[in-house]
Amino acid sequence: MTNDVALSSEAVALADRIGELVARMRSAEAELGAVLVEIEQRGVMELFGYRSAARLLEHLADMPKPATERLIKRARLVNPGRNLDGSPIPALAPATGVAARAGRLSNPMIDVITSVLAQVPPEHCVSAETNLLAFAEEAGHKQVAALGARILAHLAPDGPAPDDTEPVAPTRELFLRRKRTGIWELSGRFDDETGTRAHALLDALAERRTGDEGPDFRTTPQRYGDAFSDAVDLALNSPELPMQAGERAHVMVAVSLEDLKSGVGKATLGDTGTMTAAEARVHACDAMIIPAVLGDKSEPLNLGRLRRLISAGLRRALFLRDRGCAFPGCHRPPRHCQGHHIRHWADGGPTDLTNLVLMCAHHHRLLHRSGWEVRIAPDGLPEFLPPVFIDRRRKPRRNNLHEPLPFAA
Ligand SMILES: [Zn+2]
Ligand SMILES: [Zn+2]
Repeated sequence: MTNDVALSSEAVALADRIGELVARMRSAEAELGAVLVEIEQRGVMELFGYRSAARLLEHLADMPKPATERLIKRARLVNPGRNLDGSPIPALAPATGVAARAGRLSNPMIDVITSVLAQVPPEHCVSAETNLLAFAEEAGHKQVAALGARILAHLAPDGPAPDDTEPVAPTRELFLRRKRTGIWELSGRFDDETGTRAHALLDALAERRTGDEGPDFRTTPQRYGDAFSDAVDLALNSPELPMQAGERAHVMVAVSLEDLKSGVGKATLGDTGTMTAAEARVHACDAMIIPAVLGDKSEPLNLGRLRRLISAGLRRALFLRDRGCAFPGCHRPPRHCQGHHIRHWADGGPTDLTNLVLMCAHHHRLLHRSGWEVRIAPDGLPEFLPPVFIDRRRKPRRNNLHEPLPFAA
């Protein structure tokens, strides 16, 4: 009997010790999760050069990646997030986060609570979380899961909501950050439908180029990167784009008239970016980017806006004449195209059909940077002179891939 009592008090002490250590482990893990979410929001790449917080932890703690991913996924649900503009997004389960940091919840318990809360309508989230946490004080995660199922059944007694009611908001997150080097980083998580649509969009734009400038050596990620850039241009050019302060969305480029003419120097792009004056010249040629041209004393000159923009009527005439990118061998239709000034407006070139050629963004840039030249032939159609390294005689070439118009000649 006495022996039993001695054993029993020893067992209690040991059990207490285990409970204490487990609570410390849980608390430390919750703390670790919060730190990783914080790192994620500040930029894992900028801080550590790692692609994700999961990868960083995998390396720092010698943990298998699936475990690090689970840890971070859990931490995101119980810690506040941050919007693109830095404003906070409340956590799905903030009180669960507090209890987790106090070491009171096991990982399966946190997973049960967050998965129930993810299915509860937002207005019932706080009370559902309170109930689940109170029950979690004395029950295991399986019992809490059963309570969760009862809560869900009570809130939606007929099973999952029918399709005509408000659907559960899908997971969509996007992070876009500018690094000090001027390179931007994009990452995000999307529901299956959005991901599939984005993939279809990029796929359609990422095809290998079949122009006369030679074979397309771009890697797959490079092709998708270019496709993303094209998709952004397409969206910016869409008439459906919401207005901002009464204006079409655009990115402001500030450049001095001198630099714009010479193509030497620097231009400011938006709030933070910089671009070379040569790059600004291409954009100022015709794009949604409206240049703010600055005079000697950095005072804005309005001529950029007044002279550069191609009127709707002229744009239509240009669409009808060129029917797409005029570069030899290019398939791009008019909606992917910009009007290139053969003689730049900054150098006094007129904005009319005799001085404009329709070009896709890629060939527009190629034209500005390479030895290709364009001119309007006597029949009124554009023709391109290849650089000497492609054709020593520089025999003019035309794009015959767009259907010719009966009255084009
Ligand atoms: Zn141009
Ligand atoms: Zn093209």
